[in-house]
Amino acid sequence: MTTIASALQAVKERIATCAKAAHRPPQEIQLVAVSKAFPASKIEEAYRAGQNFFGESYAQEGLEKILALKSLPLEWHFIGPIQSNKARLIAEHFSWVHSVGRSNIAERLSQARPAGWPPLQVCIQVNISGEASKSGVAPEELVSLAKYVQTLPRLQLRGLMAIPQPTSDFELQRSRFRQLRELKDALAAEGNLLDTLSMGMSQDLEAAILEGATIVRVGTAIFGNRKSSGRGPE
Ligand SMILES: *Cc1c(COP(=O)(O)O)cnc(C)c1O
Repeated sequence: MTTIASALQAVKERIATCAKAAHRPPQEIQLVAVSKAFPASKIEEAYRAGQNFFGESYAQEGLEKILALKSLPLEWHFIGPIQSNKARLIAEHFSWVHSVGRSNIAERLSQARPAGWPPLQVCIQVNISGEASKSGVAPEELVSLAKYVQTLPRLQLRGLMAIPQPTSDFELQRSRFRQLRELKDALAAEGNLLDTLSMGMSQDLEAAILEGATIVRVGTAIFGNRKSSGRGPE
């Protein structure tokens, strides 16, 4: 049986090997361990193996684990769809949100972020062609949403995120991640310098790193298969 520690090590080796092939320093690529559907005890096990950044997709489920593990120095990333009635919970308990796709959600997150805390670190989720989920802003609307997010006092815009449809075609994986990188480059050309590309999961992290990912979000390859929970939207 593989332990979380050995699985984590294997993922770090994949990242390092690929970073080398891409002529990038491996420390430029941050690993967020996606712990959705796994209990706090597994997160603690990953922490003992050296992992500090964790991603959750469901606000309530994430909150329970955040509270249970409050004594550990963990950094929590919200990566799932954001319902407006969950914006406060997310803004009060997570450090990062990768899945901002609409201006009204951004506004609510900013309003709910407690004063005196560091700003919430956010990525805009973009619905690139072949995006697996329906969330995310259309590429044509990205510039105006990015400009809007940058006006919000309690948010710090860090970059872009996407979730392409799973495919085993490596070139197709790369071309979809390339689209996201080109959108980031286009924003930079207009003076919006962002440092984060959140892209790549268990199946496609190599393609993402070759195209410039700075955060990969990896669940299955660390924690194993998730039992299908039959969970509907929150
Ligand atoms: C579940 C999830 C992941 C992790 O996917 P794996 O295939 O298990 O690595 C990454 N990002 C998002 C947004 C997710 O919902």
